[in-house]
Amino acid sequence: MKNRYRDPLLIQKVTQKIHQVTESLDRTVRLMEVCGTHTHSIFHFGIRDLLPEKVELISGPGCPVCVTPMEFIDQAILLSRQPDVIITTFGDLMRVPGKRGSLLQAKAEGADVEILYSPLDSLKLARENPEKLVVFLGVGFETTIPLSALAIQQAEVEGIRNFKILNAHKIVPPALRALTTQDIRLDGFILPGHVSAIIGLKPYHFLAEEFGMPGVVAGFEPLEILLGILKILEQLSEGRAEIENVYRRVVCSEGNRRAVEMINKYFVLTESEWRGLGMIPDSGLMLKDEWKDFDLLTQENLDAVKAVQEEMEQLSEYSSQNMDGPCICGLILTGRKIPLDCPSFDKVCTPESPLGACMVSAEGTCAAYYRYRGRGGRFHVR
Ligand code: SF4
Ligand code: SF4
Repeated sequence: MKNRYRDPLLIQKVTQKIHQVTESLDRTVRLMEVCGTHTHSIFHFGIRDLLPEKVELISGPGCPVCVTPMEFIDQAILLSRQPDVIITTFGDLMRVPGKRGSLLQAKAEGADVEILYSPLDSLKLARENPEKLVVFLGVGFETTIPLSALAIQQAEVEGIRNFKILNAHKIVPPALRALTTQDIRLDGFILPGHVSAIIGLKPYHFLAEEFGMPGVVAGFEPLEILLGILKILEQLSEGRAEIENVYRRVVCSEGNRRAVEMINKYFVLTESEWRGLGMIPDSGLMLKDEWKDFDLLTQENLDAVKAVQEEMEQLSEYSSQNMDGPCICGLILTGRKIPLDCPSFDKVCTPESPLGACMVSAEGTCAAYYRYRGRGGRFHVR
């Protein structure tokens, strides 16, 4: 069956419209695609090549793996080396370098680290290994947080107490506020499709209302991304700023109420550190007091936690802002640099031997530039 979202004629029509509207703009516009999946689609379908020179696409902090600070990786690695601990994680996190290697290296050295597809698999391990402490690395945005909530709910129902979360869950809108208020020139956001399917449109309204910043929720097919870009350009051309949705087949303006209720039942907002953006108020989620039993770091009576906290103190000179060494992921995640600006790109840093999270993660910007290098795609350098 023909995929209308890849129909060359429709794509051509929208592209022409984009060129027409851009002519009415007297400046270069910089649009940020927040989500890593958008970044990959943009490369995969050669979308940059279709756009006028005056439209720049900037990749944003839309991959939870990439924005997770190195401190979290260090904690996970230290934990994995404790006796009777099983670390469970999504695969992307395995190769992210911490200060003392990666989880993959820890596993090769004998640590018990399991890759899984859902926190519910982690719960299954906890059920099957009652003598072990099973720790789920809770990294993810609004799309994955309801699954963590579900695992806690299930653990509570079954009375499973050896299941804990090392929590680094983050929510996206406060990061957009941080980007909008920092010294980064942006003219609009291509808003993430999956996150928006959960939260709907309302949490983005501040962008338009407080900052006059247009934002359009877009899907991941080429026609959808181009439509998203067109809608932002039309707003800029007409001097409007609104939050629009061109991904109605998946995202409704109210979002997924049940998923949001699940999140709110178990978690409460807290500040959270983002690689590249620093500490952002109300951008993280911590477990509510009544569910603290499942929050690993509050279990100070556990030997594994005590040991990790002591070792983390020894690493206390570490700051996630400047511990990336030759890696400039932080600048890339905020659109200040592109991977080609990084002296390590495609030299010492490749997906096989990554120096930073942006090259590890399937959704990372450096991985996208690496994968599609030499295959078209106009790279904007400021
Ligand atoms: S790489 Fe993609 S799927 Fe994996 S954590 Fe990042 S955004 Fe999610
Ligand atoms: S190319 Fe590698 S070292 Fe450079 S910013 Fe990207 S991940 Fe970091």
